Amino acid sequence: MQFIDLKTQQLKIRTDIIKRIEKILDHGKYVMGPEVQELEQRLADYSGTNYAIGVSSGTDALMMTLMAYDIGKDDAVFTTPFTFIATASMIRVVHATPVFVDIHSSTFNIDCIKLEQEILKTINEGKLKPKAIIAVDLFGQLADYDKLEKIAKKYNLILIEDAAQSFGASYKNKKSCSFGDIATTSFFPAKPLGGYGDSGMIFTNGEDIYKKLLSLRVHGKSDHKYNNIRIGINGRLDTIQAAIILAKMEIFDEEIQKRQKIAVNYTNLLPDNLTTPKLGKDHISAWAQYSILSNKRDKLMQKLNDAGIPTAIYYPKPLHLQDAFNDLNYNEGDFPVSEDISEKIFSLPFHPYLKYEDQVKIAKIIGVE
Ligand SMILES: *Cc1c(COP(=O)(O)O)cnc(C)c1O
Repeated sequence: MQFIDLKTQQLKIRTDIIKRIEKILDHGKYVMGPEVQELEQRLADYSGTNYAIGVSSGTDALMMTLMAYDIGKDDAVFTTPFTFIATASMIRVVHATPVFVDIHSSTFNIDCIKLEQEILKTINEGKLKPKAIIAVDLFGQLADYDKLEKIAKKYNLILIEDAAQSFGASYKNKKSCSFGDIATTSFFPAKPLGGYGDSGMIFTNGEDIYKKLLSLRVHGKSDHKYNNIRIGINGRLDTIQAAIILAKMEIFDEEIQKRQKIAVNYTNLLPDNLTTPKLGKDHISAWAQYSILSNKRDKLMQKLNDAGIPTAIYYPKPLHLQDAFNDLNYNEGDFPVSEDISEKIFSLPFHPYLKYEDQVKIAKIIGVE
């Protein structure tokens, strides 16, 4: 059994992928070929945003977004310590300071009550200027944007949606990547919409920030490539990746549907003595991961492993306890919810083609004490 089965998916679209790659071999525009624009248009339409910018990865999407808003030294960016490192490390890369806020115990997303407390604390301390919030849609469920958008407005903060795990999710029919001022996503192969390599995308309704991102993507160019008006990077998305993601979009809605069914199956099959994922009202998750909580995590993972069933822990160590952030002077006990969950959480095999029999098998192994 595989944790994420990309092979079964490939069999469904392999002919289309090959056809699209052959077309690129014919036209030869390997960098910024027509497929890149086609994908940008398609995903802007899909997410319901005005502009989409294809970029080199989800990590670069975050960095470029922070650069586009001139976020840097002495700026505070509020985010969660229970996420993939890139969310917070990119804040550091632009020389701003991540200010961590603990998560909600049932959704694992940023806790909005604690967020407001942390913003007020930062204002009172007067050392850092509150500048932005990066909310993460962990495991595919959107963060609480009703509240986040109000808080961002009240304190005049830029709201960034890190949607690396949530492409395809929605809240009240509003799609992932359309919340806040700007959103970033990733097409790393294991994400809900993954390519065959690294790439990502940025989404916004703001025309000015869109134009600035186009410039940042190609070394700070202006209207002419060799007239550079700001410091930028090579943040482009490959033509071949765009073609593969376009092929995957042909079956993506069907896959999102399948993911809902598989999540419901797990929740019905798994024993009551462990905690299964809780979805908020009006939420559809992209189910990047199906993560459960158990006091006997290590024992259960061992049993599953013995039966040839792979599992994974997202995340075993919250970011405030990572050596990379030692200079921020956080300590154990600072974010009790994140710390507690990091000791109990693990993820089960999950992909749109997971067989019901395999889910039954997994649930049985977990159920036998
Ligand atoms: C995967 C991920 C990223 C980084 O995306 P890459 O394409 O791997 O650079 C950023 N944030 C979150 C929450 C992620 O899960």
